[in-house]
Amino acid sequence: MARFIFVTGGVVSSLGKGLSSASLAYLLQSRGFNVRLRKLDPYLNVDPGTMSPFQHGEVFVTDDGAETDLDLGHYERFSGISAKKSDNITTGKIYSDVLRKERKGGYLGKTVQVIPHITDRIKDFIKSDTSKEDFVICEIGGIVGDIESLPFVEAIRQFSNDVGKKNALFIHLTLVPYLKASDEIKTKPTQHSVKELRSLGIQPDIIICRSERPIPLEHRKKISLFCNVGIENVIQTVDVKTIYEAPISFNRENLDKQVLEYFKMKSKKKINLNPWKKITKTILNTKKTINIAIIGKYVELKDAYKSLDEALTHGGIDNNSKINLVRIDSENLKISEIKKKLQGVSGVLIPGGFGKRGTEGKIEAIKYAREKKIPFFGICFGMQMAIIEFARNKLNIKKATSSEFGLGGIPIIGLISEWNKDGKLIKGTDKDLGGTMRLGLYEAKLKENSLIRKIYKSKSIQERHRHRYEVNIDYKDQFEKNGLIFSGLSPDKKLPEIIELKNHPWFIAVQFHPEFKSRPLAPHPLFSSFIKAAKNHR
Ligand code: GLN
Repeated sequence: MARFIFVTGGVVSSLGKGLSSASLAYLLQSRGFNVRLRKLDPYLNVDPGTMSPFQHGEVFVTDDGAETDLDLGHYERFSGISAKKSDNITTGKIYSDVLRKERKGGYLGKTVQVIPHITDRIKDFIKSDTSKEDFVICEIGGIVGDIESLPFVEAIRQFSNDVGKKNALFIHLTLVPYLKASDEIKTKPTQHSVKELRSLGIQPDIIICRSERPIPLEHRKKISLFCNVGIENVIQTVDVKTIYEAPISFNRENLDKQVLEYFKMKSKKKINLNPWKKITKTILNTKKTINIAIIGKYVELKDAYKSLDEALTHGGIDNNSKINLVRIDSENLKISEIKKKLQGVSGVLIPGGFGKRGTEGKIEAIKYAREKKIPFFGICFGMQMAIIEFARNKLNIKKATSSEFGLGGIPIIGLISEWNKDGKLIKGTDKDLGGTMRLGLYEAKLKENSLIRKIYKSKSIQERHRHRYEVNIDYKDQFEKNGLIFSGLSPDKKLPEIIELKNHPWFIAVQFHPEFKSRPLAPHPLFSSFIKAAKNHR
């Protein structure tokens, strides 16, 4: 049976539970164990797919097409394991499952209650599909004491009782603040947070203390004494210079060692931290900085393009360079300002997006990058905008648009279902994809002698999708005659997946999201190639 590690948080949110869980996963994996990471989110949305990035940051997409919390992205990037649909659950999903069963009469006349019905469903989720794992690390979203997280905390308490203490470990992550005015480190918030956790029936086995500066032994002893945790299990995590140092730092503080000790297990392999050491060194020592403009609606919010920022950093690491992101808000981008804003920029990236607001600025910026031969990378919405730009300015289809922006104009981008005429499907697959997004892995075949095929070194690729609209294949010949090549297509040749421009140093746009598959230890070839082109750009 798998061992279960539950990670809760206290004092304040955003302390890095996801990063701690992901780092621990790497460390255990490197010691030869099979690890699975899961996230339990206390909010009522069934999944984050419908939430605005302003609310929740990026929506991460898995191979099997789940729209999940962005922490699953951290998990993948650190552990290298592709997450699954079944690795993220929310209160909304739990309740909707329970209510569906209730409507079907599945509870045989019983009163349906939080305990046991909701908690049982949570426990089933935690346990499901874990027969091959040595460890399952479950992160509980939010902080202990939140009303929303109570059923989860109760469920993990029961779970530990069900499987026995020797098979379940509780890690609690708290903040140990430093007060500048009095030059003091304070342990009281941690004591209070653990008290709260204990009032819910959970005694933490390990406390991870997040701190700006090293926590002196006497303070750690205090935490040990008041929180009833052995001093060796009070683990400090002092702010690191780059997140890729986190696994090294947790190992230095013996987190993995203490976890194994708790379960009375021995390492199967000698731990290897060299890849992280190498990356950290590159990041901290490179002098070369490359300016990449990212033009989107949500640039103000750091987490809205999390995987993208990471993938660009990975591309930078691969090219021994630091990436300086020039974040340009597309909604306030005046066309007259584009030239000025893109000065000194070596690459332009238009990320995924939804809705009409801010699109004209994006389209103009693409035109500028195309004409001035600045490396350009369009992702999902970015590809759709590149198509519209080219149609308007090179094919002379002035009214080219996407049906996402409403009726009117010539929708070169549209729902496949809209390509129906008189009840007959004239384009696209025979499956109606309208109204639902195309989610998860889909194959694309790459054209011979194309730049994309050189980059991927493969005839066929699988990448993750999250979009509703498609480029109308009907225009393919017209585009290609004018130099914009459809260099990647769905296997049935009906859905354009990749476009690239001839006679341009690097102009590629893709209908999928390659950023979700980039990892620090395995940078995505598209990002490496884009950064290389940017590096070569004067
Ligand atoms: N809004 C576009 C669509 O739904 C693009 C989505 C995206 O960029 N992820 O097709």
